[in-house]
Amino acid sequence: MPRYIRPANLAEAAAALASRQAVVLAGGTELYRVAFPPAGATVIDLARLDELRQIVCGEAGLCLGALARWSDLLEAELPDWAAPLREAAEAISTPQIRHAGTLGGNLASRTGEGDGAVALLVLQARARVCGPAGFGELPLAQFLTRPPDDVALLTHIMVPPPGPHTRAGFRKLGLRKALGPPIGAVAASLRRDRAGAVERACAAVAAPGLRPMRLMVLEERLHGLPPGSDPSPLVDAAIAALPEPRDDEACSAGYRRHALAALLRRLLAELDGAP
Ligand SMILES: Cc1cc2nc3c(=O)[nH]c(=O)nc-3n(C[C@H](O)[C@H](O)[C@H](O)COP(=O)(O)OP(=O)(O)OC[C@H]3O[C@@H](n4cnc5c(N)ncnc54)[C@H](O)[C@@H]3O)c2cc1C
Repeated sequence: MPRYIRPANLAEAAAALASRQAVVLAGGTELYRVAFPPAGATVIDLARLDELRQIVCGEAGLCLGALARWSDLLEAELPDWAAPLREAAEAISTPQIRHAGTLGGNLASRTGEGDGAVALLVLQARARVCGPAGFGELPLAQFLTRPPDDVALLTHIMVPPPGPHTRAGFRKLGLRKALGPPIGAVAASLRRDRAGAVERACAAVAAPGLRPMRLMVLEERLHGLPPGSDPSPLVDAAIAALPEPRDDEACSAGYRRHALAALLRRLLAELDGAP
């Protein structure tokens, strides 16, 4: 059997990460589904760390505790600019999963299907982490690609407000109402300058077999796009250049790619439409 501990505070939890085969447990919806901790592991249950449940919105943006659940995010009055996060929360599976699953577990999971990660990548979020060596903060993209032996504890997610006139959203195909794999998810944000050219664009995707990632080349190519120009060829090229997503019982890899491109084209068109 794995050893099981419930630290009373963050310092205790951070120290416990130095244990042999440390495994962090939040809501358990992903952990117990994908990889039950092996005998010899130390399971660090975060349940007593109430300071990690807070959702705070201020002038500096959002400070989200890693233990905030999807249902907490839906109940919180998130600002309009955080639409991708709210829309991702709405798209998460069933009420039971939304009530147990946490934002931190979604971001820390290595299964690559994190809806929260896609939404928060376009919101330029940063991850606060702690470990036996102390506390730190890094861009979310860097946290998502940390090496497999990195057992840092994600404590908070910091989300700065975007510049004025930025519109952003999240779209997903294949709602996971049961255990079936989703087809894919996209998020994007767009800001145009006074002349109508794209001043700043951000896009991210995830699908089974394709970890959540920003589409940096697409973002650069969208920059400066004049009003009325169709971004579809740029989107299609960016999705075609992605690594192969998974082929599974839900759909083929080819269909996943096709769906991601269609979702992103539509989302960009919606963000460009009338408010
Ligand atoms: C039926 C079903 C449907 C689902 N539907 C969706 C869906 O629609 N969209 C989606 O994105 N996901 C979905 N999931 C996956 C999962 O439920 C969510 O990602 C959820 O948010 C995970 O959070 P958790 O607290 O349960 O994580 P846990 O299961 O507790 O942990 C997941 C992983 O993250 C690590 N971890 C957890 N918290 C931390 C932390 N604070 N710091 C460091 N590491 C940590 C754990 O060690 C583990 O490796 C689904 C899962 C199931 C079983």
